[in-house]
Amino acid sequence: MEICRTVARLKDAVASRRGMGTVGFVPTMGALHAGHASLVERCRAENVTVVVSVFVNPTQFNDKNDLKNYPRTEEADIALLESAGCDIVFIPSVDEVYPEPDTRQFDFGAIGAVMEGAHRPGHFNGVAQVVSRLFSFVEPDKAYFGEKDFQQIAIIKSMCRQISSPVEIVECPIKREKDGLAMSSRNTLLDAERREAAPVIHMTLAASVARREWADVEETKKWVKEQIDSNELMKVEYYDIVDAVTMQSIDSWDHDGAVYGCIAVQVGSVRLIDNIRYK
Ligand code: AMP
Repeated sequence: MEICRTVARLKDAVASRRGMGTVGFVPTMGALHAGHASLVERCRAENVTVVVSVFVNPTQFNDKNDLKNYPRTEEADIALLESAGCDIVFIPSVDEVYPEPDTRQFDFGAIGAVMEGAHRPGHFNGVAQVVSRLFSFVEPDKAYFGEKDFQQIAIIKSMCRQISSPVEIVECPIKREKDGLAMSSRNTLLDAERREAAPVIHMTLAASVARREWADVEETKKWVKEQIDSNELMKVEYYDIVDAVTMQSIDSWDHDGAVYGCIAVQVGSVRLIDNIRYK
């Protein structure tokens, strides 16, 4: 596995392999876990060259403390990537990715105005900035994203349409801990008591799917929030049940098309997100 810390070195490494076949790319912020590994393994199975980036992107953090406290585990990340079959890992400095400030403002319309977009101002603009830059460095055929960040996938697809990027976006299922908690780099920041309580998020979402038989959409949203908020260690920031393409709230289970429930929960100082498919 080649470790590249500059854009020039990365471009050389990818160029020397491009003729061999398709290039797959997995962007990450490091502190890698089995969820990330599942993306890398899928990428490995579907491409000749596997490129992974490990970069904590400052422009997508709307909270300075969150950026400061974000876990960084470079040595372990390199070991995990090596064993997951990565060919090229890109670990740049901030100056390497942003030699000048990125002043681009993306407009995602309604997709970007709700849920994470409403609660983390500027977050998706920063995601689009970094992913578009990484795409221009790597020029992958396919890029792999986790459904854990459900709304982010819609944002990335919109960004690709806006900049006419030919990259194929591949969606990968959520990897969970044995107790159901969605794997996240932020889970390591939970203290023991909060880590023990956190699986209630997925348990509640999973239980709410059956309630759809007798409860309407509004009642289901209310029930999920009440269940989770009844635990004194947690506070639901939002829970919405949305169309899987437009990200807009639905008001009836008769809605045409796939429907997901998306949640953000503050667990002490740690903010966790998760989602579930209803239909
Ligand atoms: P991050 O390092 O958190 O920015 O995540 C990098 C990529 O890994 C994103 O596409 C995430 O959606 C994906 N990812 C993070 N956690 C999981 C998980 N538990 N299961 C599947 N994909 C994940």
